[in-house]
Amino acid sequence: MERLQSFVGGRWVDGSSAPVVLTNPATEEPVAEVRNGFDAPGALAHARAAGEALRKLTFAERGALLQEMSRVLHADRERLLDISTAINGATRGDSKFDVDGATGTLAAYATLGKELGDRRFLADGDAIQLGRAPRFVGQHVRMPLRGVAVHINAFNFPAWGTFEKAAVAILAGMPILTKPATATALLAWHMAKVVLDAKILPEGALSFVAGSLGDLFDHLGPQDVVAFTGSADTATRLRATPSILSPSVRFNAEADSLNAAVLGPDVEEGSDLWHWFVRAVTTDVTQKTGQKCTAIRRVIVPDARADAFVEALSDTLGRVVVGNPVDASVTMGPVATRQQLAAVRDGIGLLREEATLVAGGADPVDGVGAPAGKGYFVRPTLLRTTMERSSRVHEHEVFGPSVTVVSSPDDADAMASLVARAQGSLVSTVASDDLEWLGAFLEGACAWNGRVLVSSTKVADQVTPPGMVLPTLVHGGPGRAGGGVELGGTRGLELYTQRTAIQGDRALLGRILGTERA
Ligand code: NAP
Repeated sequence: MERLQSFVGGRWVDGSSAPVVLTNPATEEPVAEVRNGFDAPGALAHARAAGEALRKLTFAERGALLQEMSRVLHADRERLLDISTAINGATRGDSKFDVDGATGTLAAYATLGKELGDRRFLADGDAIQLGRAPRFVGQHVRMPLRGVAVHINAFNFPAWGTFEKAAVAILAGMPILTKPATATALLAWHMAKVVLDAKILPEGALSFVAGSLGDLFDHLGPQDVVAFTGSADTATRLRATPSILSPSVRFNAEADSLNAAVLGPDVEEGSDLWHWFVRAVTTDVTQKTGQKCTAIRRVIVPDARADAFVEALSDTLGRVVVGNPVDASVTMGPVATRQQLAAVRDGIGLLREEATLVAGGADPVDGVGAPAGKGYFVRPTLLRTTMERSSRVHEHEVFGPSVTVVSSPDDADAMASLVARAQGSLVSTVASDDLEWLGAFLEGACAWNGRVLVSSTKVADQVTPPGMVLPTLVHGGPGRAGGGVELGGTRGLELYTQRTAIQGDRALLGRILGTERA
């Protein structure tokens, strides 16, 4: 059994609590243990001190660090995929989604660093004339904050979650202290070890906490940042911590989301776009066993198409093979923990109060290739209801392979209003070729979503999967989804930098800031 340690204050340390045991969700065998406890003030001080070395580097130099991180992790890809599949219960495809997502995002931010070049901070817009003569101006700049970026991640993406946050903070010029969710920390720990062993980053720029953060929040200061991903409940509790509120520690939350997929009324059954829609929903519901913040939970379809769509989706979900991903025939693994399994079963029970079960359900199931009665398996579950009856489906996130089809009148406003009933989502997907209908739908839906994917016949063969977060586009949504923003190219740097308006002599400022060469 592996023993996970934390890397803080420049060395690997063990905690002193009783061991917390991590299990393989496909077999329930113990795979690792971690003991909580570390010197939080010391860890923060050590990490903050590393900021100076990062701030001295240009964007291009920081980008080169990210490129090297991506390279060493990619060089170890096969071992990391094996760990993810054999120990974390993710299929090989799901493991690639996570691990390649991590190295891909690091590489994308490395490229951005190269593009931003030999600057160390960003000018924000052009100089603005403030006086009668053009000489006296205001210039906005974004400088890296001088604290530490504390990253807290959810259990579902131990690789991508850790390194998509790391990429942005390091490019901005901030050291990081990263904490994966304990249940799946093993993969993140191996990846952090690869990067730390390669000694790529300046001393102290990457700290890693296995297990609990302890009293770390009590020691945060006004230049620190917390970027949190997890449930809305934890986000609400953490952002209301007095030590976050009082020094105004920046707190970014990526939380729950009841993402919708909407079928436009013009999409004919059997058309290419129809098939794309069925495929996209199927993939999204089953990928990572539905444990994706961006997974489609609600499918809103016109009343007239509901029967045909439910039949098509039931057919594709029925072909999914649930089991231990080390068995080559398995296409969907277990959920991550016993608690998750219980929560998914309870959630399906809750949705059944207003929806009809079409396929799957909460009953226990043995996984292919897993010991009988062992493993946290659940079948892909399809429920259906109507707009009038739907209520919990817009409120309760079942964090597993469960999807509910909601039939609705087909006008764009009604469908956008149903999307909005989730009170803020990370992403919604819509399939249609009808310009007028789409325009009305987007006007109604955009304010409730961080991202909207529009698939139409001419691009259906090239659209990225709805659940795939891209480094070039923002990730995060309003309301229930946490209200945060991550990624989106340079937009992601905003979290880790201070926007300051500097007033003064245009020529003087231009030369100091590098915005204007005299
Ligand atoms: P969670 O229970 O809220 O935990 C999230 C993280 O918070 C974990 O690392 C957890 O650590 C940590 N944590 C819990 N209490 C804490 C405290 N008092 N102080 C500091 N850290 C604390 O969520 P989860 O079960 O891991 O993840 C599932 C949820 O995440 C789902 O609701 C999903 O929608 C959401 N999610 C959102 C996104 C997004 O980008 N919007 C992405 C992925 C997942 P321990 O594991 O050690 O308890």
